Amino acid sequence: METRRVADILKNGQPEETVIIKGWVRTKRELKGFAFTEVNDGSSLAGLQVVLDNEIPDYDTIIKKVNTGASIEVAGKLVPSQGKGQKIELKANSVIIYGEADLETYPLQKKRHSFEFLRTISHLRSRTNTLGAVFRVRNACATAIHQFFQEKGFMWIHSPIITASDCEGAGELFTVTNLNLNNLPKNDAGEVDYSQDFFGKPAYLTVSGQLQAEVMAMAFQNVYTFGPTFRAENSNTSRHLAEFWMVEPEMAFCDLEGDQNLAEEFLKYIFKYVLETCPEDMEFFNKWINKTVLATADNIINNEFARITYTKAVELLEKADKKFEFPVEWGIDLQSEHERYLAEELFKKPVIVSNYPKEIKAFYMRLDEGEKTVSAMDVLAPNIGEIIGGSQREERLDVLERRIQETGMESDDLWWYLDLRRYGTVPHAGFGLGFERVVQFMTGMTNIRDVIPFPRTPLNAEF
Ligand code: ATP
Ligand code: MN
Repeated sequence: METRRVADILKNGQPEETVIIKGWVRTKRELKGFAFTEVNDGSSLAGLQVVLDNEIPDYDTIIKKVNTGASIEVAGKLVPSQGKGQKIELKANSVIIYGEADLETYPLQKKRHSFEFLRTISHLRSRTNTLGAVFRVRNACATAIHQFFQEKGFMWIHSPIITASDCEGAGELFTVTNLNLNNLPKNDAGEVDYSQDFFGKPAYLTVSGQLQAEVMAMAFQNVYTFGPTFRAENSNTSRHLAEFWMVEPEMAFCDLEGDQNLAEEFLKYIFKYVLETCPEDMEFFNKWINKTVLATADNIINNEFARITYTKAVELLEKADKKFEFPVEWGIDLQSEHERYLAEELFKKPVIVSNYPKEIKAFYMRLDEGEKTVSAMDVLAPNIGEIIGGSQREERLDVLERRIQETGMESDDLWWYLDLRRYGTVPHAGFGLGFERVVQFMTGMTNIRDVIPFPRTPLNAEF
């Protein structure tokens, strides 16, 4: 007989059906001659209540081994439950113990653990209610993302993880090398001689797949990347990881407005999909993690995002009767406190801010008329701040060359990127969405380290 998933049994199981389940014991309550255990197989927040009584073979030895954390297989019959909290339970006919778990040392006892502690046992924490729910929602977000783009005819493209171009020019790069670090080859100037390195020049872990996505958009029109990106930013915040996943759609024949429309439709789609596919998990977050997540999700799905220019945003911030740590004036990069004020307090919903000063944005963003601003846009969300950053790209060769010079980029490295403007250039636009930020936003989890299975942050690469 095929093993059934607990989620399926809880939803579709009928009394008198015989089933087999496999999973991990969450709790056990022993009474005279019988016991209740809850078995969780990761398919849903709720486990299945299993009743064991002394009619099953080897009851006395088995019951000693059915402890929190143990892995077991149960065959039996579904029966209506007498207890509160579930309508169906499993009456065991036989139990197989796969692996015992020592009661004394198993770190996940029934009490509540702090997320800090759980991070120290990331190899076990997925078996808790909260992290279980997080990773199911994470999976649903990923599915929603692919489904959204595939339904719209976007092609999923795979940008390289190792690259020789620093897309943002931000300098938060991890170097990739196979040189002997204890005996580095040096040139006459005393600098590291990268010509002897694996790629014959400096190479890095990618910070963004955008430039390559632009290449592919110039052949397939609408494309997206969805993969890991890396930033060696030494910022210990609750919103930054050294390794995170990014989604980067890129559209040919598209301007900034089309880009904003896509971003809004996209976020709405993800939220709707997760609410529909993970209702239990979402209710759990709303009850235990952040009492506003369901209302926020509703707000996102049902309201139009606010759209303002950077100039307007600065005006609003200057007028705000609130003291900011970083003073506001035209030209500054908006800080998290500013972003959150706009989204959380002023508009109380996501806000798309566009047309930022060119000095604070990347070289590839399209220069606006008047040449003070570029066609960039950020989507700011309540509780999170920036969740999406995007722009219309500079498609004019002469302007792009000028911008590369102004920003001190190395145009030799970008010859292929410039070629796109030489051969069949078109207006195009795209954005980057931090995948973990979405999961954080969805679930209300305050620390980004708790929405990725194995977080990579400064001084931390365990597991
Ligand atoms: P921030 O100001 O929050 O550091 P950024 O301006 O550096 O963001 P972009 O370079 O525009 O971000 O990257 C695109 C998206 O990737 C961001 O909108 C954000 O959602 C996400 N992101 C950026 N850096 C990180 C990080 N270190 N960890 C997780 N997500 C990130
Ligand atoms: Mn950053």
